[in-house]
Amino acid sequence: MADCVFCKIIDKTIPADIVFEGDNVIAFRDINPKAPVHVVIIPKKHINPLEDMDEEDIVMIPEIYMAARTIAADEGIDVSGYRVLTNTGPDSGQEVEHMHWHLLGGRLLGDIG
Ligand code: AMP
Ligand code: ZN
Repeated sequence: MADCVFCKIIDKTIPADIVFEGDNVIAFRDINPKAPVHVVIIPKKHINPLEDMDEEDIVMIPEIYMAARTIAADEGIDVSGYRVLTNTGPDSGQEVEHMHWHLLGGRLLGDIG
């Protein structure tokens, strides 16, 4: 997707602090971190919103969660705990229209809302 910032990170046409790369997913540090550890995990395929993930795309979701576990262990927050969440659509406050999952940790996280 030509004007998608996350596709540009995948293409490596804009820089990012990449912490994990697998066959179908890539993860990088959030540019505006909300916690000591804040990593954005994305499918390499441009998909948005969640409703556009078909049955074939949905098989990426286990890879997203396996990446989250690997990164959490690498960052030393696997025991203290962490949150994995996604936003989809206007009410969620989603800013970047390429599906992504936030991995947050390194502090006590408040209520979702
Ligand atoms: P959301 O509100 O769920 O769409 O979250 C999008 C996230 O992407 C925000 O936390 C942004 O700080 C982050 N973000 C936007 N552009 C970049 C970028 N170029 N590199 C890293 N993180 C980014
Ligand atoms: Zn994209």
